[in-house]
Amino acid sequence: MNISRSLIVRHTELDSTYIPLAYRRKVLERDKGNCHFCHRPTEFLCHDLVKCRGGQTTPDNLLTCCVTCRREKGELTAAEYFDVRLKQENIFEEVIMRIKVYFTNGRSLTGEVESEPSFTCPEFYIKTGDNGNQRKVNTRNVDYFDILGGTTKGGNHG
Ligand SMILES: [Zn+2]
Repeated sequence: MNISRSLIVRHTELDSTYIPLAYRRKVLERDKGNCHFCHRPTEFLCHDLVKCRGGQTTPDNLLTCCVTCRREKGELTAAEYFDVRLKQENIFEEVIMRIKVYFTNGRSLTGEVESEPSFTCPEFYIKTGDNGNQRKVNTRNVDYFDILGGTTKGGNHG
């Protein structure tokens, strides 16, 4: 599995947790690069038992986990989070994320995407204004991206 260096750096910045590259590769390979919870492809990881609850940074305690699920999981264990998901099924389906894209040429772009962009996809679409226009972004021109926040589309789910 080929993991871009910028993404590795990005992850450690995101959660302030250093995960050795060897562990990262091992976990991503074990989980086949799919989020443990929603099964979407991702290159991010999370701790099963989080560090603030005594969890260790070892492959046994690490899971492949997309940014959306990791934010929702918070300080829960994987099992606890699965419980929560069962009770709230489908509310994670319609998340709009606000991201800032940093291009390799030094430019950046802020806008909304419907799911976390993946470096394994050649392109993704980003909505940059209120007029609904979407801009196609070529992933190979992207250095990294920042997740600025997420909101659930539609709001009420009963
Ligand atoms: Zn996920």
